[in-house]
Amino acid sequence: MIKILILGGTSEASALASAVAKRGLPAIFSYAGRVNTPKPQPLPTRIGGFGGVNGLATFLVQERISHIVDATHPFAAQMSTSVVAAAAQSGVKAIAFTRPAWQTVNGDQWQSVASIDEAVSTLAGPPQRVLLAIGRMHLSAFAAQPQHHYVLRLVDRPTSPPPLPDVSTVIDRGPFTLEGDLALLQTQCIQRIVCKNAGGEGAASKLTAARTLGLPIVMIERPALPPRHEVHRIDDVFSWISDHT
Ligand code: NAP
Repeated sequence: MIKILILGGTSEASALASAVAKRGLPAIFSYAGRVNTPKPQPLPTRIGGFGGVNGLATFLVQERISHIVDATHPFAAQMSTSVVAAAAQSGVKAIAFTRPAWQTVNGDQWQSVASIDEAVSTLAGPPQRVLLAIGRMHLSAFAAQPQHHYVLRLVDRPTSPPPLPDVSTVIDRGPFTLEGDLALLQTQCIQRIVCKNAGGEGAASKLTAARTLGLPIVMIERPALPPRHEVHRIDDVFSWISDHT
């Protein structure tokens, strides 16, 4: 008996949820609960952490989950690491459904870094206007370079002042467009962008906009994860499910 757990928080997870619902497969969709108004899904949805590896393993047994599809963001390393461990512990089959990382193309000016801390270090130097497109979780690290004006692009309006001395905030949620991102970079007079190598289409327009305007990008590369089976196409998820049923 199939029952799929989809771990979401990405546009890929939402696309998969629609495809699973269309096929009438039993499934549960899971959000971490990070944004105020998560996109409604056409599947039964739960919100909130599981309580680490043991909590997830217990959930898998209680809900009689047969297959986990980890479609979380490539930077959600804690959740993805828990999936590998809980799947091994409970004997449930698991696959990761992700977007390929972005690659540079001619005209890009990327400085690739391995971590948020390394991104912060690269910002040493005279004041600039910096677009910080990294979400809201690690903003405080950039207080170590307080000379810049940071433009934050966030999904929700912050409930407390951002932990940086000189900021402005743009509230918006992807997918973004080239036209919109060009306008944002120009109206905000952005000189440098800091972002994560999320991959996918929904946030890629800022890369094209930066290339068009000749702006440098500090690109934070993806965190390392334990070995896992990973696919990039919805059809490959369904093939894997039918091969493992
Ligand atoms: P994380 O650091 O890997 O996860 C922290 C904890 O949040 C996990 O250990 C887990 O709690 C809970 N969690 C994460 N994803 C969950 C899910 N889909 N369902 C239930 N619990 C979940 O993750 P994060 O980087 O904070 O990201 C949180 C969510 O935002 C993810 O769903 C991700 O897809 C989405 N997101 C993240 C980014 C990013 O840049 N990191 C960007 C866009 C969207 P327990 O240990 O208690 O189970």
